[in-house]
Amino acid sequence: MIPDAIKKFIDAFSRLPSIGPRLATRLAFYLANLNKNDLKNLEMALHQLATINRCEKCFFVSENRLCFVCSNPDRNQKTIAVVEKETDLLSIEQTGKFKGHYFILGEVSPRKTLDVAQRLRLQYLKERILKELGGRAKEIIVALNLDATGDYITQIIIQEFKNLAEKITRLGRGIPTGGEIEFADSETLASALERRV
Ligand SMILES: [Zn+2]
Repeated sequence: MIPDAIKKFIDAFSRLPSIGPRLATRLAFYLANLNKNDLKNLEMALHQLATINRCEKCFFVSENRLCFVCSNPDRNQKTIAVVEKETDLLSIEQTGKFKGHYFILGEVSPRKTLDVAQRLRLQYLKERILKELGGRAKEIIVALNLDATGDYITQIIIQEFKNLAEKITRLGRGIPTGGEIEFADSETLASALERRV
């Protein structure tokens, strides 16, 4: 009933966050009706994503060896906010209240624990603290979502980094339902950062 190209598109796009089969189907038909030039531009944009690099310190996307935070000498590298996703970093940046460095752990699926890649990233953070900060960070802020999964991962991080930081804090309560950083408005997030515990 539906051509293969459309089926393949729907299949690939329904797996993306926030896009279910219905939206993927709508998108497929919408895009199939676009002119060739617009489609070519989209194709280019997707293609360029595949060439993007990661900051070798914090794993944020970057065109250079270091991202815009890690390469800024005015940022305090002894205070490190551990976040799940790039969008969490951007949300915190938008508050303008954080002048430290970040560390991107990678997205944690609900009710799951850390995977091998995430464990390796944490190992890498430990080595970085040992090598670059003389074995002790001033503060590690675990800025994960305030839900059961976030709580669980926070406990793992506290256990593993208790000897590598003067203090380990997390965001203050107050982020609304679901506790997702990504959806908190800037003011709420700023106050959760200020009231970290
Ligand atoms: Zn970086």
